[in-house]
Amino acid sequence: MTFTHRHLLGIEHLRAEEIVTILDLAEEYVTLNRAAEKHGEALAGLTQINMFFENSTRTQASFELAGKRLGADVMNMAMQASSITKGETLIDTAMTLNAMHPDLLVVRHPHSGAVDLLAQKVNCAVLNAGDGRHEHPTQALLDALTIRRAKGRLHRLNVAICGDIAHSRVARSNIILLGKMENRIRLIGPPTLMPAGIAEFGCEVYDDMEQGLQDVDVVMMLRLQRERMDGGFIPSEREYYHRYGLDAEKLAHAKPDAIVMHPGPMNRGVEIDGTLADDINRSVIQDQVEMGVAVRMASMDLLARNQRALRGAA
Ligand code: ASP
Repeated sequence: MTFTHRHLLGIEHLRAEEIVTILDLAEEYVTLNRAAEKHGEALAGLTQINMFFENSTRTQASFELAGKRLGADVMNMAMQASSITKGETLIDTAMTLNAMHPDLLVVRHPHSGAVDLLAQKVNCAVLNAGDGRHEHPTQALLDALTIRRAKGRLHRLNVAICGDIAHSRVARSNIILLGKMENRIRLIGPPTLMPAGIAEFGCEVYDDMEQGLQDVDVVMMLRLQRERMDGGFIPSEREYYHRYGLDAEKLAHAKPDAIVMHPGPMNRGVEIDGTLADDINRSVIQDQVEMGVAVRMASMDLLARNQRALRGAA
């Protein structure tokens, strides 16, 4: 098996063949999830704790369902209500939970690097469910699976990632993954929303949607991450929509069969036109949600196998 990691902390640590291993296993879980009986045994007897220090709808629900479908005991920690609000540090909380012997810890945190730090302190598998603007590996994997199913391949595609690149962990993980799979990536957005050191990403950069979208196969839209902005990055939402919001007119510059993606939550009428987002002939946004459960099942299954192998060897 070509996946030997203890944790899933970022796409940056994965090789192309490991990405393919996760996606191939996720395909099997897509089939299981569409069956009438959805139960697998891969995580039977294991305990999964979800610790979300930042709000989440899709990711938390998806990890919870993924764990339950594979037979794990799943606990969601309500972090707002926990001792964190009483001043306990992230590491103290993690150590407390560690003492309860979880096997899988799914963590989202507003600070980049916090999940890596935590992984060094606990002795179970840690999955990064989004850390600051750093990485969101399962999002990039579910996006990759969605693209592979829609386009029949995951290489030599032209992919446009549009909008608030600077604050987006989704963009970062996707840029790394799509780069490892040898795709051409274009980043489109206002210069104020491009990250520093953009040249190192090896992507083409545009500040004009019509030029940037020319002949692309995939259009990935991003949410404006207001919670991570500490100043005026855009003139107004109306102006932003006019220049960078995806609508049918702008999409007409992409290939006729280009797909439209968005990780959610969407700001309709800010970065994307609501009708286009709901157009099942162009938008694969609901497929992304479906693939999310399968990819999380596959990721936790692989980590659990490695954990068992490690224990067996000890
Ligand atoms: N849900 C994604 C994330 O957690 C994207 C977003 O919030 O805009 O990063």
